[in-house]
Amino acid sequence: MRYIIALDAGTTSIRAFVYDLVQKKFVHGARREAGQSFPQPGWVEQDANEIYYMAAYVLNDCVRFAGVEQIAGIGIANQRETTVLWNRETGEPICPAIGWQCRRTSDWCAALDGETRALIAARTGLVPDAYFSAGKIVWALQNVPSARRLALAGKLCAGTVDSYLIYKLTEGRSFVTDVTNASRTMLFDIRALRWDEELLRRFDIPRAVLPTVVSSDARMGETQLKGRRIPVAGAAGDQQAALFGQACLDTGESKITYGTGLFMLFHTGERCVASSHGLLSTIACRIGGKTTYALEGSMFHAGSGVQWLRDGLGLISSAAESERIAQSVPNTGGVYFVPAFTGLGAPYWDPAARGLFSGITRGTERAHLVRAVLESIAYGARDLTDCMQRDSGSTLTAIRCDGGACANNFLMQFQADVLGVPVDRPVERESTAMGAALLCAVSLGLADLQEVARLRVSERVFAPSAKSAERSETFYRAYRAAVARALLRP
Ligand code: ADP
Repeated sequence: MRYIIALDAGTTSIRAFVYDLVQKKFVHGARREAGQSFPQPGWVEQDANEIYYMAAYVLNDCVRFAGVEQIAGIGIANQRETTVLWNRETGEPICPAIGWQCRRTSDWCAALDGETRALIAARTGLVPDAYFSAGKIVWALQNVPSARRLALAGKLCAGTVDSYLIYKLTEGRSFVTDVTNASRTMLFDIRALRWDEELLRRFDIPRAVLPTVVSSDARMGETQLKGRRIPVAGAAGDQQAALFGQACLDTGESKITYGTGLFMLFHTGERCVASSHGLLSTIACRIGGKTTYALEGSMFHAGSGVQWLRDGLGLISSAAESERIAQSVPNTGGVYFVPAFTGLGAPYWDPAARGLFSGITRGTERAHLVRAVLESIAYGARDLTDCMQRDSGSTLTAIRCDGGACANNFLMQFQADVLGVPVDRPVERESTAMGAALLCAVSLGLADLQEVARLRVSERVFAPSAKSAERSETFYRAYRAAVARALLRP
């Protein structure tokens, strides 16, 4: 059998790719948009049925391309934290899926007492927040009329998107989730690798509504496609899948995804490192019985600043154009941008902070502003890497990049200069799907970890230039001064 299908169930689109085990690359892809609804300010919902139907559609498209006889298995990567509640007997969702961005449980989170918050940090590695699944399950148990009744009757399932898709694909035979998805629920003890009884008791969530937690390389079950039973094998949350797809397998190896927001994962090997800067500790993956960990940090806004230049200010006509415009000036002329559109995360943690341009003079031109917005993305990544190195005591040796904005050569070079380490861009930029494909290959015994490391091919490595090192430090300090002005917390 020649092919593996990687299913990438993202927030705004569901995609599937055919990975060719002979050519060692993707040879086909299919995509469907997924809807989101916003029934109240701050609420985000999705239709879980739609997510499943879209997944079935793109899978079938890939099966048509590859031929069902040639498919060895299906691996899954998915948007994390989004929570689906469904009837165990019928497989029907009992309410809309509650999206990861949904803020409906903010008040519930804010009301958690100090002891519970400390317990959450110690057991789950997370900073309590409405993103994570726990509050979403609590909300449903309290507000969806049938939820508690079904739970008491042992007929309720509550899981993340991987769990729901695997349940549907296996026609209800497998109710499982992988460890990386479990580690984003705020209910999972990431060291002991089990649902935390104490947190479940405090939140009044019955253990029986949750899936069985399995390794990232587990065989989850089988799905029926055109009369054949095909293994569903290998699953991980999207960021962890990308880390694996980028072959970050060991301590210090890190990837940054430059998308709408910026997501960084810093591998800490078999050590689960607690952050003193408000970063998250999370499971990187569990493969071959070995659990590895990562520190995770994110910027809420990265590429979205470039979108704002285009759509909000009309300063550029396309995101790609930002590269040429930024390079038309030698520097920003002392202008700094702080992308605090919706507050600032690690290491500042000020939800009230708002964005600003500083250092504007009569000589400031459009190109300076555009360049300052791109540079701010690199400075934000520097904020995160500094924290991660301090927390872990490990040194960053290189960054592997992906996401839409990694196409920007100016940004990648500037990033290398600001971090003082090479930024390595792969040929295959669909790291998340690549992670799902490779987890599946490992699960089925078609590849091992050495092979995964070999499969990643660099397209271009941006080396930090020695002559810019000192200048970059000065710029970065000036950026921090601009951030200090953007902070509003007392
Ligand atoms: P997401 O998966 O978060 O939707 P993508 O990985 O598709 O995001 O990346 C899209 C983002 O990247 C957009 O915010 C866009 O402004 C930005 N982007 C895309 N191409 C470039 C580029 N050449 N230079 C700078 N930013 C870019």
